[in-house]
Amino acid sequence: MSECLFCKIANLEIPVEAVLESDRGMVFPDISPQAPVHLLVIPKEHYADLDAATRDPELIGHLLALATEAARSQGLTANGYRVVANTGPDAGQSVPHLHFHILGGRMLGWPPG
Ligand code: 5GP
Ligand code: ZN
Repeated sequence: MSECLFCKIANLEIPVEAVLESDRGMVFPDISPQAPVHLLVIPKEHYADLDAATRDPELIGHLLALATEAARSQGLTANGYRVVANTGPDAGQSVPHLHFHILGGRMLGWPPG
């Protein structure tokens, strides 16, 4: 059994209120939201980060399509939103299982820090 937090979520060992799900991915609210809408998109399969997942470009495309679908379902399309994948320590990645953040519902500063 995996000790990875997001593998546990993908395997339903830790319950979340999924916003969207497919055979390969899940979208659910971040536990510590940084914007009125803050969702995470994860693959069900374990990849440590975006760099590791480049060997499966079809999966990356699928997850980004899920992200746009989730953003649309949350009403974010009109004003816009941000999709970001923190990758590695300099980016502050804290969970070593690939995830895209979807942030929206307020003006987002740039650069992010
Ligand atoms: P990172 O810092 O790796 O880019 O993003 C990890 C995100 O996962 C953080 O925004 C954090 O709030 C979120 N997170 C950490 N633990 C949990 C959890 O148990 N459930 C959910 N839904 N989100 C989590
Ligand atoms: Zn994992």
